[in-house]
Amino acid sequence: MSQDLPILVIGAGLGGVAAALGLAKSGRKVRILEATEELGVIGYGIQLGPNVFPMFRQLGVEKEVLQHAHFPPDVMMNDAITGARIVGLNTGSKGFRERFKDPYVAIHRVDLHGVLLDACRKMPNVEITASAEFGACEEQGERVIVRLTDGRTIEGSALIGADGLGSAVRKHFIGEEKPKPNGFVAHRTIVPMEQVASHVGCDEVILWGGPGFHIVQYPLRNRSLFNIVAVFRTENLYERADEETYRRVLMETYKTAHPTMHHMLRMMDLKRRWVIADRDPIRTWSFGRCTLLGDAAHPTTQSDAQGACMAIEDAVVLAARIQEAGGDFTTAFKRYEKDRYLRTARIVLESRHLWEFYHLGGIEAEVRNDASGKQTDDDVWRCLAWIYDGVKLPR
Ligand SMILES: Cc1cc2nc3c(=O)[nH]c(=O)nc-3n(C[C@H](O)[C@H](O)[C@H](O)COP(=O)(O)OP(=O)(O)OC[C@H]3O[C@@H](n4cnc5c(N)ncnc54)[C@H](O)[C@@H]3O)c2cc1C
Repeated sequence: MSQDLPILVIGAGLGGVAAALGLAKSGRKVRILEATEELGVIGYGIQLGPNVFPMFRQLGVEKEVLQHAHFPPDVMMNDAITGARIVGLNTGSKGFRERFKDPYVAIHRVDLHGVLLDACRKMPNVEITASAEFGACEEQGERVIVRLTDGRTIEGSALIGADGLGSAVRKHFIGEEKPKPNGFVAHRTIVPMEQVASHVGCDEVILWGGPGFHIVQYPLRNRSLFNIVAVFRTENLYERADEETYRRVLMETYKTAHPTMHHMLRMMDLKRRWVIADRDPIRTWSFGRCTLLGDAAHPTTQSDAQGACMAIEDAVVLAARIQEAGGDFTTAFKRYEKDRYLRTARIVLESRHLWEFYHLGGIEAEVRNDASGKQTDDDVWRCLAWIYDGVKLPR
């Protein structure tokens, strides 16, 4: 009987483990298949908007997430050349909390992933299989048969592809269509707070926007760590070079930047580079008993800091739709897709627009700074309300 078979979740990233937890809490049997040997090792910071907290409450992990969170008094954008503040969300204010009900936080991804994974491990109806790379799948009646790249086959009642930006599940259903690089790369670093000079704002989330480059900084783990992401445009997107060469490129790219940014650049670990990419939004990502979730469905650039938040929203909405439809996965997946495609498409498209806004130079940057500087807290919050007000869950 397919009802006895688990729902297969491909990928144990933030979206995959959140989906497994949501489904397990509603009594479903779940099996996560993760390609890597070790789970949750990607260590950098992420920001979470207030919209994701109702999802954590639904998953029963809000308290644990909050224990690991940093609450920035402001999330602001500075001009990378002059150092002047352009605009901010005033996240520490009473007004922000009254308007959005939940906080804006920064958290170590390892900690957030750990909370979700621990909660999954406590559920007797979740099985996690590492070193299990999805290769292909086939629907046979009420079953989905997954073939792993090592030749093993695994059966489930339905399949959720939560395997990230380069999703093999997406490729299986939608075909070969590469993510779209936007011409920028990122280096990410976490350093002990002792290394950070006192003149650097160590409490806020700050994005320093400059012509063709930016830096994002914020503290983690009770201000013991400092997260830095340096992002810039390059013609050599896929260049693999030694650290010295990367450093030379970085210094040349950021030569006009404010001295505070140079202090941060000197601390950057340049071993690894990420190519920044998204995909054009799509309306359809459910195919019978199979669907996609998170970056596999709607990967976005990080301008809105919402990729992980969207994956977690997807997970909770999907679990609710499956619960509502009983065992009818095809109906549940279509409803979930309808619930999610416009909101997630808007995130992708707005993030592209914001990306331009962050990287303006010359008189365009002056106009941006002047116009943004005149915005009140209420003006800024109104622009973000469609994101931070969150989603209504199906009953
Ligand atoms: C520089 C940067 C900063 C960011 N900042 C933020 C932020 O501040 N806030 C925010 O909300 N988001 C942020 N994001 C986005 C966020 O990290 C992603 O949107 C989120 O992690 C997506 O989660 P996911 O579960 O869909 O995919 P992933 O986290 O990518 O997980 C996919 C999982 O699938 C596994 N997998 C891959 N292929 C296979 C296969 N064939 N078989 C089995 N398993 C497989 C992978 O190993 C991985 O474990 C940022 C992204 C970047 C690049």
